[in-house]
Amino acid sequence: MALILLIEDEPGLRLTLTDRLIAEGYSVESRADGLAGLESARTAGFDLILLDVMLPGKDGFAICRTLREEGVDTPVLMLTARGQVDDRVAGLKLGADDYVPKPFHTPELLARIEALLRRAKKEPLTENTRFGDITIDAKAAIVRRGDQEVVLSAKEYQLLRYLVQRRGEVVTRETLLREVWGYQATPNTRTVDVHMTWLRQKMENDPSEPVHLVTVRGLGYRFDG
Ligand code: CA
Repeated sequence: MALILLIEDEPGLRLTLTDRLIAEGYSVESRADGLAGLESARTAGFDLILLDVMLPGKDGFAICRTLREEGVDTPVLMLTARGQVDDRVAGLKLGADDYVPKPFHTPELLARIEALLRRAKKEPLTENTRFGDITIDAKAAIVRRGDQEVVLSAKEYQLLRYLVQRRGEVVTRETLLREVWGYQATPNTRTVDVHMTWLRQKMENDPSEPVHLVTVRGLGYRFDG
């Protein structure tokens, strides 16, 4: 059963949504202002955050940005004002995973929640994930090879993390482009290949014969470790 954090200041909507989500089998905690919401969102354990944009204390954009900067990768679904296209784009750029414009039809919101939870199902990175001589310290976002820190760009790290969390699973270039690059993506899967080449040079003993970041011909990539 998934645990959802609802950050929404409008009392009526907060109550209605909480009741409905509980009726759908979710556990729900709700916060009525941005500061309390951020504080709760930081404490791990939520499977999804439903985040209103206009909030007292701290707005939804600031909350989302702060969480991502702090490395909290809980899926965020933003509740944006109707027609505020800029709001939606801003939210996604700040690290939100999806948005639903207000006023929304509850079945649509429920479908988005379900889709997001399904997408987010992944192997949690423990504090130290190891493969070969590589250690990923997920809390500090540091990768080490033996005792040496490996300097990765933000995208290289996100790409590595995404694949490691789906160990053994084939991930297509299109999925990587959508999930790792999101809306900043130039619509070109070559970007993924270029970053994969860089990542292999840093991660693999023999980048031309990768054993962890494996190409699955005609499909995409897979992490083995
Ligand atoms: Ca509001």
